[in-house]
Amino acid sequence: MGWTLDLAGLDENDFIRSCDVTFKAAVKFIDWDRNDDGTPLSYYHPFSIPPYLNGYAPAYHCHRRHEGGGGRSFAHSMLGSCAVLDALKSPRKPGVQSLDGLFPYAYYVNAGLFAGYLREYRKTIGITHVLDDVVGVNRDGRGFVSSPALERGGDHPVEFVIDCSGFRSLILHQALEEPFVSFQESLPCDRAIPMPIDHPEPGGKLPPFTTSTGLSAGWSWNVALCSRSGAICMCCSGRNFSPA
Ligand SMILES: Cc1cc2nc3c(=O)[nH]c(=O)nc-3n(C[C@H](O)[C@H](O)[C@H](O)COP(=O)(O)OP(=O)(O)OC[C@H]3O[C@@H](n4cnc5c(N)ncnc54)[C@H](O)[C@@H]3O)c2cc1C
Repeated sequence: MGWTLDLAGLDENDFIRSCDVTFKAAVKFIDWDRNDDGTPLSYYHPFSIPPYLNGYAPAYHCHRRHEGGGGRSFAHSMLGSCAVLDALKSPRKPGVQSLDGLFPYAYYVNAGLFAGYLREYRKTIGITHVLDDVVGVNRDGRGFVSSPALERGGDHPVEFVIDCSGFRSLILHQALEEPFVSFQESLPCDRAIPMPIDHPEPGGKLPPFTTSTGLSAGWSWNVALCSRSGAICMCCSGRNFSPA
């Protein structure tokens, strides 16, 4: 995302201030596994890649030497960034240039604010924005997409098109008949219940990571924006799932 902002000519500091942005440098998994005494384990999945040792990836050996789960996690053993995350510090030092992080990070973004931000920005670089609904897709003699049919604007000829219609997949699936490939067997998750919640301590420190807490029938995400948190309960129908 940082690379994309830079490529588009957007200033990271301005983006952060305008879109209620916070840093995300890891996911913290809580209670996805337990110690032998039943106490919940937690560990980070950071966005930094652990260094190779003498040309070897250290994960296997680290795991072997920490059998039983009582030792330090792999990430804590290998990455200094975990100490920064534990202290709820930012991956960027104050006053440094945009995109100059101590270690890799992503962002939490208020998507509505970001859409408005991009709508304003495109005016300064000469991009035309057409707000309409796609009601059909026309194809040329070769089967290529020649124009989306817009509800109010009629046929809109294109040379290149990207399908951003999400699960509807208007162009790829519906028009070009690309099949939907389900990973349901290995990724048992087809329900998400999102809700915005207030920060437990308004004005307190914000975690620069997502927490993912294991539950009896799924897991919950907690994501901190500047102004509020997002809580999302994830689960799978048919596997111990009840709407309650
Ligand atoms: C509860 C929840 C929480 C998530 N949290 C995270 C997170 O923390 N971090 C993360 O990286 N990802 C997260 N995701 C995943 C992320 O939201 C999706 O991967 C991403 O939004 C997919 O983007 P998309 O552009 O493919 O589709 P979408 O975001 O679904 O956008 C599709 C767009 O197409 C529009 N559209 C549909 N039909 C038409 C039409 N006929 N004409 C015109 N427009 C149309 C829709 O209105 C919509 O705006 C989360 C998803 C969910 C459900």
